[in-house]
Amino acid sequence: MASLSPCSMHAEEPLRSRLSGPLQPLATLATNLWWSWHPEAAAIFQAVDPERWESAGHNPVKLLRDAGPLRLTQVARDAALLGRAEALVHTLEADLARPFDTGSGASAERPIAFLCAEYGLHASLPIYSGGLGVLAGDVLKQASDSALPMVGVGLFYRRGFFHQRLDRSGWQHEWWATADPEELPVRLEVDAHGEPRLIELTLRGHPVVAQIWHVQVGRVPLFLLDTDVPRNQPVDRWITSTLYVGDRTFRVMQYAVLAMGGLRALQALGISPSVVHLNEGHAALAALELAREAVRSGLPFDRALAEARQRVVFTTHTPIPAGNEHYGQDEIMALLGDLPGELGIDRGKFLALAQPPDGPSFGVTELALRTSRSANAVSAKHGEVSRAMWRSLDVQITHVTNGVHAPTWIAPELQALLDRRLPPTWRSGDPRAWAAVESIPDGELWAVRGALRRGLVEFVRRKTVRDRLARGETIPYVEAAARTFDPDVLTLGFARRVAAYKRLDLLIRDPGRALALLQGPRRLQLVIAGKAHPSDDGAKRLVQRIFELKDAAGATGYVAFLEDYDLETAGQLVAGCDVWLNLPRAPLEASGTSGMKAALNGGLNLSVLDGWWPEAFDGTNGWGIPVGGQDEQAQDARDATTLYEILEREVVPSFHDRDAAGVPVGWVRRIKASLRIAGAGFTTARMMSEYVQRVYRAGK
Ligand SMILES: *Cc1c(COP(=O)(O)O)cnc(C)c1O
Repeated sequence: MASLSPCSMHAEEPLRSRLSGPLQPLATLATNLWWSWHPEAAAIFQAVDPERWESAGHNPVKLLRDAGPLRLTQVARDAALLGRAEALVHTLEADLARPFDTGSGASAERPIAFLCAEYGLHASLPIYSGGLGVLAGDVLKQASDSALPMVGVGLFYRRGFFHQRLDRSGWQHEWWATADPEELPVRLEVDAHGEPRLIELTLRGHPVVAQIWHVQVGRVPLFLLDTDVPRNQPVDRWITSTLYVGDRTFRVMQYAVLAMGGLRALQALGISPSVVHLNEGHAALAALELAREAVRSGLPFDRALAEARQRVVFTTHTPIPAGNEHYGQDEIMALLGDLPGELGIDRGKFLALAQPPDGPSFGVTELALRTSRSANAVSAKHGEVSRAMWRSLDVQITHVTNGVHAPTWIAPELQALLDRRLPPTWRSGDPRAWAAVESIPDGELWAVRGALRRGLVEFVRRKTVRDRLARGETIPYVEAAARTFDPDVLTLGFARRVAAYKRLDLLIRDPGRALALLQGPRRLQLVIAGKAHPSDDGAKRLVQRIFELKDAAGATGYVAFLEDYDLETAGQLVAGCDVWLNLPRAPLEASGTSGMKAALNGGLNLSVLDGWWPEAFDGTNGWGIPVGGQDEQAQDARDATTLYEILEREVVPSFHDRDAAGVPVGWVRRIKASLRIAGAGFTTARMMSEYVQRVYRAGK
């Protein structure tokens, strides 16, 4: 079996030892996240115990841990089910046995190390918050599919990101669940004596240790650092507890654990990366950590940094100046004060590396830009914005437009259709394979779209019933939720972080016009999801206003707000919605990826021409709202008007313009264009091959 870390040892997998011999294939599948992008695996887990599969939140480790002995004995005698599991394990093993693609210059001995503060791999591994993490998860999955030698590095958050619950007035409350490693597909890295491998770093003037969890993502290992170790002081144990919330001190300490701790962890595991890829500025201290190692072995600092810089590449994701974090220089020195000495430089020289041109502070993006050999933005538009934003630093910034991992995001029903109608190379990311979308019979494609919409409607009903019960609504109101939504009605989706610039409220800017769209024989239905930042009361008020829309006269039953937006909900929404809305205030969307997911499922984007959309939109594959240079108020008013006009004049009529067989021919033509363009251009297969060609290999 290919392994990037031959000398690495793991703690015994508790799951494996709990299951009898015939059930071992299930343990093999459950403990490699490879299962999450192979729908047959989910089907097998569901068959083990459908009820428990749901209650376990589609977490196969928890399912197999908690399943009753009686049920497991039955499964152990179910030759058909175990045969399916064994066949899938063979497919997994064949995947793991493929040789590495070394075209990037990286190899099993010198892999690419990908560093990110969050990873969205599956809803059951809650170490992500949103787009950045989901992208990072897709990157690891694609690296596995492409046999790219890569290791991931991140943090193991016990509490992860917050969950959202709305009360009956629509006000958002937050809660955190504490993850139990025993219920997750993670193994502790141990030494030859079976003791946890610990790495150490100095924070606030004293040593802090971290242990290392190993998550296997197909062929790619992901190492997660965790300071919740008895030997640490209570405050230090808390460093990796929570994603993105907490005070600035904890954040900086997290970033130090991620970059410096992460690279020390790789070294402890015998992995020496050829390239270190910083996905966003959180891991900006990585080059200094590489330099520190070289200084320790005798190199002067300037040479050590120059050599470190040749190994580091940086992807920026933030188009807003305020989104690039800055810290006080004294604040940084209080936390990382030992670092300049270890680098053999004085405080001034150290701080200068992260100093913005406009005054003394410590900017993580500035540090990353100055200490990496290449920097890239995540769409062509974002490239322009970033170059303008960082002009004064005099660094080159290119772009590699984001993509999404097709096997993760395309609904199984549509994957089956593509397998029937497209050359098999669509799965390996061959852009030419997608041209055959045009020859799919209209009726066949429309039937799958209908099935996906029905699936979403059922999901909305189930979830709304549960959400209403949890809010303590009246029984009739709870039961009414089971009748909401209509599987044949044009369905619009809008799901994203609720922040002012995302302009969720554009939809209801003209309440009369919005309500008219939700009524009558050609009505549409609207499903919304999104979390507001816990301390952003403005965003919470907006959630509340949107929440109230669901009970507006005439719209009852046609608007749903789904609580606690996560990967599971996202998967359902992007598969089932006919139209995917995105209304950012330009140019504040770096890329956006949910629209790509919708397009890959045959959804049509109706989006402001910002982020990725100007690259994809060609007039045939959805709708674009032009961007202009007016002030915010004028821009919002104009964009809302354009939105309503497109909906009234184009979207609604086109959806209802049917042929004799009931197929909306013009709409299906748009679906095909949307699918073809997204498949050829906006998958991680395309994205990763660009990173290999233009970023990873370029340093060689
Ligand atoms: C894809 C995804 C995102 C990012 O979508 P945007 O288009 O950038 O808003 C955020 N959260 C989840 C759960 C996702 O799946």
